[in-house]
Amino acid sequence: MTLADRGADPAPAFIGVDLGGTKILARWIDPASGRARGRHKAVTPTTGPADVLDAVADTVRALDPDGRAVAVGVGVPGFVIDGRVVVRCANIAGWDHPIDVAEHLGAVLGRPVVVGNDVNCGAVAEHHLGGDAATADDLLAVFVGTGVGGGLILDGRLVTGPRGMVGEIGHVTTTPGGALCGCGCRGHLEAYAGRAGLERRAREAAAAGRPNKLVDLAGPSTIKSRHLARALEEGCEVTASLLADATDALALVIGNAATLLDLRHVVLGGGVVDKLGQPFVDQIAASPSFGGLGPDLCALRLARRLDDAGVVGAAILAADRFG
Ligand SMILES: [Zn+2]
Repeated sequence: MTLADRGADPAPAFIGVDLGGTKILARWIDPASGRARGRHKAVTPTTGPADVLDAVADTVRALDPDGRAVAVGVGVPGFVIDGRVVVRCANIAGWDHPIDVAEHLGAVLGRPVVVGNDVNCGAVAEHHLGGDAATADDLLAVFVGTGVGGGLILDGRLVTGPRGMVGEIGHVTTTPGGALCGCGCRGHLEAYAGRAGLERRAREAAAAGRPNKLVDLAGPSTIKSRHLARALEEGCEVTASLLADATDALALVIGNAATLLDLRHVVLGGGVVDKLGQPFVDQIAASPSFGGLGPDLCALRLARRLDDAGVVGAAILAADRFG
């Protein structure tokens, strides 16, 4: 195929895929600019990983019926080893054993495939496209949403570890024996700073005789990140106290990580950070709980809000390895 065959838009030639617990999204990505083009979606099957991988392959083929892609990057919600093997995916039914996804999909699609943890893919996108962070060789990206996830870049490369657990910052202990985490353990960062943990604590406070705006605003439905912002604006003391616990826990872990790993750049993103904005980041930097050698060691800033960051990061991983 010549460039002319591709018409007026010869690039990009990389596909990024976001494999989530409920949906699969595939897009063409230009790894240099992060620009996305085209879009195919599918519902994630609940009948086991073999069907899920078939659905991923079908989604890629629907986006690329002529087989033009140089390589495909896939972001998955699980532990990933060496850009290839997905150890397990807690929120995909039946995926409780290691599968060499790169080998399987590579054979099915007839082109190279690289796999990354979805949060790590977000960190890679931020590292490549996030302004001054893009020039940094060291970066910790922390995403505070329903849970808390992270991605670590050292010496300019994503670090994943022998079990794919690098960046699992949400399950770092901040308070031994403390609040219950979604993983079943106690005292993890996510139990204090993640939206689900904040909801759990807000409802416990209400049940213990401390009524609060979070429970009032959400009623019986899920407490959303926007409820956090609104309750804070309306002067809810319980909300302020819960968010102070959240920023203290984040400050403790971020400061310790920066000290341990000599990190100069930390970016914060995710639904909770998007809604609470710069004051939330400032509160972390000013926290008396800031760990290690203190906040002067590293610059904290808001992540650039990249659309489909996971898809973009997955494609960048593919371009880095096979471009
Ligand atoms: Zn946990």
